[in-house]
Amino acid sequence: MARVTYTDWTIPVAQIGSRAGQSMEVDKAFPAPSGIGDTIVGITEGSDVQVRGRFDSIVDGLIFTGSFTAPVHAVCTRCDTPLDRDWTAQATAFFPFEEQPDDGKDKDEEVEIFAGEDEAEDVYPLIDRGAFADIEALIRDTFVDALPLQPLCRPDCKGLCPQCGVDLNEHPEHEHKVADMRFAGLAALKEQLEAEEQGDA
Ligand SMILES: [Zn+2]
Ligand SMILES: [Zn+2]
Repeated sequence: MARVTYTDWTIPVAQIGSRAGQSMEVDKAFPAPSGIGDTIVGITEGSDVQVRGRFDSIVDGLIFTGSFTAPVHAVCTRCDTPLDRDWTAQATAFFPFEEQPDDGKDKDEEVEIFAGEDEAEDVYPLIDRGAFADIEALIRDTFVDALPLQPLCRPDCKGLCPQCGVDLNEHPEHEHKVADMRFAGLAALKEQLEAEEQGDA
């Protein structure tokens, strides 16, 4: 028998895998896997991810439907305001029963059918002959898909002044009286040219 690796993310499901039409509730905290987001927006590895949902057994596998709730750390990409809060992401996933040996032909057909079906349903592994569902990748994928690429404290965040860093949300009237350096350079050039013209005349 192949060695089975149990992790923090394996859920015993043997009780419902034996027969189609059974279901099992899940309401339990799992540690956040690594690789969810980055320093701008993400979930710190090891923080609690509350998993609430159910596994339903069908003929060829288990369906998980439910939600994951976890503390997401984020900062507004315009003004750097911290936006830490709990996020809940919905997930539906399919855990197919392991292939029977010596059915290479059938396997090819199944792959084809899967490719043609609704791609929104993600497929994840059962291990130890269907005794455990491994939800590590499911948690990671669900949050990676759900997190915003560029979090904002509010849709119309004005951001920080590019010259001095003042928060323009708090100081909407803020501006710098000093002319932009590029225009200052042009003004000096214009003055110089005018002076030269006068010198020629
Ligand atoms: Zn902001
Ligand atoms: Zn400024």
